[in-house]
Amino acid sequence: MSDLKQRICIIGGGPAGLSAAMYLEKKGYENYVIYEKLNKVGGKCWSPKLKVKHNGVEEERSFETGAIMGAITYHAVSEMEEFGGYYHKGPDFKPGEPNMRREFRKTTGEIDHPFEPKIDFSMKKLLGLLKLKKQMKKLNKLMQTKYVGYDCYGHLGVAKGEYFGISKGVDGHCGATPETSFPNYIKGKNPNLKDLALPFSEFCKLNGVEEVQRIWIAPFTSFGYGFFDEIPTALVMKYLDVTTALEFVNMQLWTWQDGTQQIYEHVNKKLKHPALLETEVVKVERPEGKVLVTIKGKDGKQKTEEFDRLIVTTPLDLFAKYADATEEEKNLFSKIIHERYIDYIATFDEGKSPVISGYLVENMVPEKLGHAMVYYNRWQHLGNDCPVTVYALANHTGTPDVTYEFAQKTMDEDMVKVGFPIKEKHFAQEVYYCPHVSAKDYADGWYDKLEALQGNKNTFYAGEIISFGDMEDTCAASKDIIGRFF
Ligand SMILES: Cc1cc2nc3c(=O)[nH]c(=O)nc-3n(C[C@H](O)[C@H](O)[C@H](O)COP(=O)(O)OP(=O)(O)OC[C@H]3O[C@@H](n4cnc5c(N)ncnc54)[C@H](O)[C@@H]3O)c2cc1C
Repeated sequence: MSDLKQRICIIGGGPAGLSAAMYLEKKGYENYVIYEKLNKVGGKCWSPKLKVKHNGVEEERSFETGAIMGAITYHAVSEMEEFGGYYHKGPDFKPGEPNMRREFRKTTGEIDHPFEPKIDFSMKKLLGLLKLKKQMKKLNKLMQTKYVGYDCYGHLGVAKGEYFGISKGVDGHCGATPETSFPNYIKGKNPNLKDLALPFSEFCKLNGVEEVQRIWIAPFTSFGYGFFDEIPTALVMKYLDVTTALEFVNMQLWTWQDGTQQIYEHVNKKLKHPALLETEVVKVERPEGKVLVTIKGKDGKQKTEEFDRLIVTTPLDLFAKYADATEEEKNLFSKIIHERYIDYIATFDEGKSPVISGYLVENMVPEKLGHAMVYYNRWQHLGNDCPVTVYALANHTGTPDVTYEFAQKTMDEDMVKVGFPIKEKHFAQEVYYCPHVSAKDYADGWYDKLEALQGNKNTFYAGEIISFGDMEDTCAASKDIIGRFF
């Protein structure tokens, strides 16, 4: 039976930590504390304001260093919007709003039209597109028949050919409305689901749908989620289910006028106990029945607080280093892999700035680590000279990583080749991104092993690793963990 008076510690004030607090409140728990090491909430949703010129007048606009977009399948994020009172724009953007339009370019700068049969027409292109269309249809059907049960958050049971989790509602039946009584758990057995442990390229080959990778690659690999020869299919298809993938193709996406960070700033303000900022958790000890959390504040001083339960929303491989991790925890968390995603915000030489976002698909291969894969022009209507964000990946299983410095230099060179020479960088970072496990560890039941540890030593694991490294999956994972264990 839940004891609503329990004192609960939440590590991390990102989407996962704040949604955990919101769902705890919804269940009647009010005795919680969120520790956040930075001086802001939102984690990888950070949306600084930069000065831009609009009709000759200087004004401030939000830019994105991290999360940008959502889609109709973002049910848990919708609940966060509702709680905080701050809502997305789109999919139909009005003048003055940020937008999600984009183009494809060759690395030489030439505009490409890979999905438009009439432009640069050739028989080969037409036949290729017809094949792609056929395989998209086939995949959609397979996901609803052979792979029934794939469309829930998280990975419970998949390695054993089972499924259990909150429905993603990709069939339109699930949503954060009172009528649908979200969360709607789905559960069952389907031995075919074991195929979801395979790297996505192998899964496509097995099912005769190799061409679909052409659609999935841009919103997956360029967004830093890894390469198809290494990433388990479950991560690809649970994030980019066919509905969401088509939202990308048709540009039916959401974004937030003042940035994704504001979703979390608004939620934080409404919480009974907003996150304690500039408070880093540096040690966790869990003697019998208690959780002792040592925090370091702004002044550098440390103090230890006692709790009944702990929710970890931060990287578990790092948690194992500052907590009294058990052998099981150490062993399991050592298997976590993360992507090294690099981005910067830059302005370009006068009159030589991209006027729309763009994909550089030729650079979305492991041989091109550190190369610019995508650039994001958020304020297209402001015309030339508006800052743009550029992104690259620095790692791939089986290939030596590239350094941060190499990636920065290579991205600059790529932008010159495409025709956008960089004048000034306003911000640059490398991010611990999309924690996951290898196809082998996935098939070996890694996620079920993690599930078996939930609640041991009064500790609950949430955050990106549970389902996927995006806002929706992290918030939904909190909903699931709070729903089932609190
Ligand atoms: C470039 C980029 C683009 C992205 N694009 C999208 C997108 O378009 N759509 C989308 O849905 N998602 C996107 N994401 C992913 C999304 O931002 C993340 O999945 C999401 O922020 C994860 O939330 P989280 O709370 O699990 O982790 P985080 O956002 O990483 O938050 C963790 C928090 O914990 C804090 N913390 C860490 N250690 C400690 C400690 N010891 N003590 C106290 N606090 C600690 C950190 O400071 C941080 O604030 C993008 C991310 C990046 C970087």
